Amino acid sequence: MGQPTGFLEFSRTVPLDRQPRERVADFREFHSHLPEATMREQGARCMDCGVPFCHTGKIIDGLTSGCPLHNLIPEWNDLIYRGRWHEAIDRLHRTNNFPEVTGRVCPAPCEGSCVLGINAPPVTIKVIECAIADRAFREGWVEASPPSFRTGKKVAVVGSGPAGLACAGELNRAGHAVTVFERADRVGGLMMYGIPAMKLDKGIVERRTRLLAEEGVQFVTSTEVGKNYPTEKLRQEFDAIALCGGSTVPRDLPVAGRALAGVYFAMEFLTANTKRLLDGERAGDGFISAKDKNVIVIGGGDTGTDCVGTSLRHGCKSLVQLELLPRPPDARADDNPWPQWPKIFRVDYAQEEAAEIFGKCGPSRWWGCVSSRRPPARPSSRKCPAAGAPCRPISCSWRWGLSVLSRLGCSPSLASGSTDAATSPPTAASRPASPASSPPATWRVASRWSYGPSPRAATPPSASIVS
Ligand SMILES: Cc1cc2nc3c(=O)[nH]c(=O)nc-3n(C[C@H](O)[C@H](O)[C@H](O)COP(=O)(O)OP(=O)(O)OC[C@H]3O[C@@H](n4cnc5c(N)ncnc54)[C@H](O)[C@@H]3O)c2cc1C
Ligand code: SF4
Repeated sequence: MGQPTGFLEFSRTVPLDRQPRERVADFREFHSHLPEATMREQGARCMDCGVPFCHTGKIIDGLTSGCPLHNLIPEWNDLIYRGRWHEAIDRLHRTNNFPEVTGRVCPAPCEGSCVLGINAPPVTIKVIECAIADRAFREGWVEASPPSFRTGKKVAVVGSGPAGLACAGELNRAGHAVTVFERADRVGGLMMYGIPAMKLDKGIVERRTRLLAEEGVQFVTSTEVGKNYPTEKLRQEFDAIALCGGSTVPRDLPVAGRALAGVYFAMEFLTANTKRLLDGERAGDGFISAKDKNVIVIGGGDTGTDCVGTSLRHGCKSLVQLELLPRPPDARADDNPWPQWPKIFRVDYAQEEAAEIFGKCGPSRWWGCVSSRRPPARPSSRKCPAAGAPCRPISCSWRWGLSVLSRLGCSPSLASGSTDAATSPPTAASRPASPASSPPATWRVASRWSYGPSPRAATPPSASIVS
């Protein structure tokens, strides 16, 4: 620890993001870095406490506490304070294959368990991590480092998401000949086609993939093992196989109206959007535009947030985001003590943008659960836990321009096979010919984030819409 009193002298500082109104005009990243002097002060806030909970990576009460990669956080905090950036990236790479990615998109459970966080704002661990990685690339310190010998063993890695790439990188470094098979046309899994470009620039994923290729990893894209590459062939050709197929089978919400036009899984929406950004018109006709649509995003997690941010960038007319769980408290509840992941209310980037664009933000209604049951005819006597206002039923039918299912999670794709009748999205054939022939689903939701005028009062939505 370079400066024992750093945590008393310096307060937590994070970089200013690009302004919401400016950033919704494009899909470029919106985070920036702190000046070097400020960064050193932030590193100096680390107390190098005796037991650094920040790198424990334990599951407590079902949630991750501390860094699951066991990053050596106090060590690189100290190196930053001393201005030894090159050594800092070496320490970071000891535990983390892609710090330029985690520094951007990790939810940072390390900060939730930072000891300083017991009674003060925690160290800006994620910001420091990103700064170390970006500077290392800028300075040319991150270079391909092929292994000095080869074992003669061949390993197939199925799937090129972060799990597959990390696995491939480690096995290649150990001297094995590694081939990564990827179903999509690009490497990166959800880093490429899930997380939108404004959160993680696709050039960053491609840069890391190029390094792995220079180190000797072979990539075979547009190839689905078990479909257009037989598993038996794979078993014959390789000494070992690592399955890193992720969870790309969406979990559906089988309620009345689900098959209507204009209702999509989040990944249909997000994947097509990124593909359009990368390939332009060549991307094909899968693109789903939210422009001038009234949009409902069902799910208040990260994926839902990305759907909100993407819809805003398309220029949607209005937005409602539905969340199953009640509004979390502003500060840790008594049953959620440090070092647990803090289950507190957060306003993410896309909600901030929506509030800026439409002028209204925040959970506005409160119900027990999302279901397909009809709400009671009269307003409930229950009170909104936040505002104390009476609860009212929300009729959220599919009668919107665009509905995106994002909260429902997904199931393992390799384990269950890549198709599952119960979970497959509705095809054009399975959709009713006349959307109006299907009764609208009425929902009860725990919290509803609405931005802008109610679409019910607004002009009817314009395209692929239920009338
Ligand atoms: C919209 C969205 C936003 C997210 N945002 C964040 C975030 O901000 N921060 C965060 O930490 N996490 C985020 N996540 C979660 C994170 O992306 C995943 O946890 C992570 O990508 C999982 O990595 P993986 O390698 O296991 O699987 P994946 O990234 O899903 O990669 C699996 C790959 O395997 C391929 N595959 C599957 N079957 C086959 C086959 N038979 N043959 C060949 N290839 C196959 C798939 O095409 C896919 O490319 C987000 C997820 C989504 C959907
Ligand atoms: S932000 Fe970095 S140090 Fe913190 S939990 Fe994520 S990967 Fe680990």
